[in-house]
Amino acid sequence: MSDHIDPVKLDKLAEVAVRTGVNLQEGQDLIITAPLDAAPLVRLIAEHAYKAGAGLVIPIFSDGAITKARYEHGHDDSFDRAPAWLFEGMGKAFKDGAARMAIAGDDPMLLADQDPAKIARASKAQSIAAKPAMNPIVGFEVNWNIVAYPTEGWAAQVYPDLPVEEAQGKLMDAIYAASRLEGDDPVENWANHTAELKKRVKWLNDHRFSALQYTGPGTDLRLGLADGHIWKGGASPALNGVTCQPNIPTEEVFTCPHAYKVDGTASATKPLAHQGSVIEGISVRFEAGKIVEANATKGEDVFRELLKVDDGASRIGEVALVPDSSPISQTDTLFFNTLFDENASCHIALGQCYADTIEGGSEYSPEELQQKGGNQSLIHVDWMMGSDAVDIDGITATGDVVPVMRKGEWAF
Ligand code: ZN
Ligand code: ZN
Repeated sequence: MSDHIDPVKLDKLAEVAVRTGVNLQEGQDLIITAPLDAAPLVRLIAEHAYKAGAGLVIPIFSDGAITKARYEHGHDDSFDRAPAWLFEGMGKAFKDGAARMAIAGDDPMLLADQDPAKIARASKAQSIAAKPAMNPIVGFEVNWNIVAYPTEGWAAQVYPDLPVEEAQGKLMDAIYAASRLEGDDPVENWANHTAELKKRVKWLNDHRFSALQYTGPGTDLRLGLADGHIWKGGASPALNGVTCQPNIPTEEVFTCPHAYKVDGTASATKPLAHQGSVIEGISVRFEAGKIVEANATKGEDVFRELLKVDDGASRIGEVALVPDSSPISQTDTLFFNTLFDENASCHIALGQCYADTIEGGSEYSPEELQQKGGNQSLIHVDWMMGSDAVDIDGITATGDVVPVMRKGEWAF
């Protein structure tokens, strides 16, 4: 581990991830997926998990060098395959009550030089095979959490001008601040932060908007909300009854857009780091919920491949509001990682909706969700469309217009 990564900060992150993030219960098993480089954090998480009474802690590691070896030397047929048996096993563990933790920190540019068509094939095969493991998470059946570790590859990308070990130290400090770990009582920090998010959630739910209108540079978008949509944010109970804080950090309040009622133009306000490529200057046009025109100034082929994965890949499944003054936004850093970048800005996500952002949605079949406007897809990719130049209004069922955000800040 880099000498520049503060071990005290790392330990505090591990403890908060176990206690506040996943809120691991006595006797509960914990499955952790992580890049191999994040092993120092995974070991600390395991320690805190066992201290909290964990049943079994099971780490599943991936490794950038091995992924790269596949792209460089792997048989072409292998790009349509994925280890379904592994995901079926994970799915079975969740059904049996295991909790889930993921460590973010992969090198965002790992696959930058690889063939986008191969990346798309591998990603599609992976998404299909991963369904048994992903459905319990997307449906919020079990308590889960994601936190980040400053790996070499990631830190070098965020701070390219620093020697890599120093970059890792600086990224650790940024993760620490963004994860609200400062002071003596990070658990209290999170309680306060959640209370603030719940206030926004309540106001939005009370207004029952039928659509949001976005106005900004390159953006004139009327975004319908799903029938029976619910705004969410901060800690909430999973269906197994355990209240957890899925994302650390998190700054968003979010809900389900209507997959067939989105019209107009939208421009991304930040680059999108996606599976080893960076897509910049995204601008799209929606018609009846579907992207019918898509452009990007960089990585356009990767973006277009992404939209072709399935019908739902060119529709949206999440809309999230984040004030421009959020601490992550204020760092003015592009993290090349969705966990951080999505929390710096209002965003929408292409692809799969979260069933629990529609009233009673966790009980619905995919077809029933779709009837309410809940999008179905193999992908879920967030992209940023907020800045201090974007205004958002809420439109009620009777056509009243209520300011929601002005110049990137809450208007209420
Ligand atoms: Zn989001
Ligand atoms: Zn999302």
